[in-house]
Amino acid sequence: METVTLNDGIEQLKGVGPKRAALYRKLGIETVRDLLSFYPRDYLDLSHPLPITEAPAGEVSAVRGRVFKKQGPQRIRKGLTLYKVFATDGDGELVITIYNSQFLFDALSLDGEYCFYGKVTGSPLRREMSAPLCLPASETLLLRPVYALTEGLTNKMVQANMQDALAVWGDRLTDSLPSALRQQYSLCQLRYAVENIHFPADAQARNLARQRLVFEELLVLQLGLSLLRQKHRRQAGARMEDPELSPFLESLPFTLTDGQLQTIRDGIRDMTGRTPALFAGQADEAAPAPEEVRVPMNRLVQGDVGSGKTMVAAALCYVCVKNGFQAAVMAPTQILAEQHYATLERQLSPLGIRCCLLTSSLTPKARRQTLEGVESGLYGVVIGTHALLRGEVAFQALGLVVTDEQHRFGVAQRAALDRKGNNPHLLVMSATPIPRTLALIIYGDLDVSLIRELPKGRQPIDTFAIDPGKRGRALGFLKKQVDEGRQAYIVCPLIQEDGGELASITRYMEDLQKTPLSACRIGALHGKLKPREKEALMAAFQAGELQILVSTTVVEVGVDVPNANIMLIENAERFGLSQLHQLRGRVGRGQYKSYCVLISGGGAEDTRRRLQVMTSTSDGFRIAEEDLKLRGPGDFFGQRQHGLPELKIASIMEDMDVLEEARQAAQALLRQDPSLSLEEHRGLRAEVRRLFSQSGQVAMN
Ligand code: ADP
Ligand code: MG
Repeated sequence: METVTLNDGIEQLKGVGPKRAALYRKLGIETVRDLLSFYPRDYLDLSHPLPITEAPAGEVSAVRGRVFKKQGPQRIRKGLTLYKVFATDGDGELVITIYNSQFLFDALSLDGEYCFYGKVTGSPLRREMSAPLCLPASETLLLRPVYALTEGLTNKMVQANMQDALAVWGDRLTDSLPSALRQQYSLCQLRYAVENIHFPADAQARNLARQRLVFEELLVLQLGLSLLRQKHRRQAGARMEDPELSPFLESLPFTLTDGQLQTIRDGIRDMTGRTPALFAGQADEAAPAPEEVRVPMNRLVQGDVGSGKTMVAAALCYVCVKNGFQAAVMAPTQILAEQHYATLERQLSPLGIRCCLLTSSLTPKARRQTLEGVESGLYGVVIGTHALLRGEVAFQALGLVVTDEQHRFGVAQRAALDRKGNNPHLLVMSATPIPRTLALIIYGDLDVSLIRELPKGRQPIDTFAIDPGKRGRALGFLKKQVDEGRQAYIVCPLIQEDGGELASITRYMEDLQKTPLSACRIGALHGKLKPREKEALMAAFQAGELQILVSTTVVEVGVDVPNANIMLIENAERFGLSQLHQLRGRVGRGQYKSYCVLISGGGAEDTRRRLQVMTSTSDGFRIAEEDLKLRGPGDFFGQRQHGLPELKIASIMEDMDVLEEARQAAQALLRQDPSLSLEEHRGLRAEVRRLFSQSGQVAMN
């Protein structure tokens, strides 16, 4: 036989012509290797058939029986012919209906023993199944793979092709895991794993197979991330020597919380290797050797909404600029960038630091001038969205990058920074609590600072969950707050089926005209507005010219108007808990007693439970945990919010325990062989390259 390789095209398989190959290609399957790693999304479990009388109606079950009667065909109308097959297991009777298939009907022979799998209906005495899966009772594959298919491709076809692939190419499945590692973590061999993930001998074999494949995938992921990181670590960060901060601290209108101070201290130590005089007397003051290569800061700041992360950023920007470098501050939205600009400018310009805002709403001329100022070093702090990292923006000496609320910004994204020269220090700020293991994966080996407390004097936010019947009263209460000089947010979710965001906001504004609020100054903020219009609206709200801001979720992250003390959220059931928490964080930022009113029509039990979490706690970490429990891990980061390569079998959230094991294994491997160049690691190295190239990310060196 001629030699085959796993890179052979899918057309080499029996029964795969150009047409089927095109279907496979739709699923991203081009080679035999791709097919073999096209893992089932689920299994039909025929291994525990129930007695017919005990199969619960309304549920999918497997039962066994002997065919004792066949009836048909019965032509109901054009295009619909029915066949009936009667089976029994001695106690119960099962009636099977087959539609339009003489072939399936003929395949069931009188007196034959079969296993039937399908949804059960009918009474206990006479169970029914409509078009079930029918297998001879002698069938041994009792956990049947179910693949995520595309139109035109059936499970049966994939199973046949898979069988062929395993038979002819199976010998090529050489193990990329060194055998010592397999033994250490009790992992089965690759060939066994691939065979049993597709055609499990039993549940235990399937679990063993999955365990091994998940481990390998997470190991490869972490090896890849570590290699990326190493590359980065070989370079020294922007060199800063002077940790002095006193002028900045003295200019603040408030005293910083302990959490803020600690975080600032951590950041200054990362950047300068020294502890500012302010913190003298505190532990760990080891002065770094001057010649030592100092790696760039890589720090995550986790602090709940309202904990004052912006001031931490301002302090580090101050130190950075005083050391002769520039700082870039990136926000996820334009509105937030504008707000950061206002805050930083107010804080830093009296200290002689010039800030600029780079957004798409600048006129071409203003933009050119700003870019020139950035390049010449006129501006110390540059604020904008992530477009700041685009090629066109040239810095004179970028020393620090701060990202706010951007979870995409992980290890793999760091590479873009390095291209800006100087190996800037990186500070990632987030209000979303991330389990530590996960943070390690997403951000690499970053150091974490926590801000646990909110600034003093904050009043807790009273939260109420009400149904729409009480909306009138809620609006009345809101009006009262506004009359007393406060401001209010009203948040409406996007309602697509109603003709989009604009339509639903417009309708809502019209409805408000029929309420006592019609006398108030109200603005409507939504994604369809031009940047300039949004900016003007936010400015008007911030200045108190607008009393009420009706908004879609663009207001979600970070907007800071301390005079606003009440937020009303419509259709609260449409939001995730973490999102509601973020929204609610827009109020309770000043000295006024604050309120949050959640309106939801859905009387469903789980809606009530979810909203109850909101009324009972204001702890962002607890809310995130509950969110995770109630909604499952899929929603936690949204659609691939984390910027990692796509995984085929492992789930970072669900396989957290394996993740930890794989992390240790990756570290041990790299200690022994830092660039994976040993012969026995060749397979792993190839897997790393494969995983990271498939997602179009930074290639390995
Ligand atoms: P977040 O962590 O959500 O980004 P912000 O940085 O927007 O929080 O800060 C929230 C509000 O708290 C702002 O109005 C800010 O001026 C104020 N603030 C920050 N630190 C303190 C402090 N130490 N004492 C009092 N107010 C503070
Ligand atoms: Mg913020």
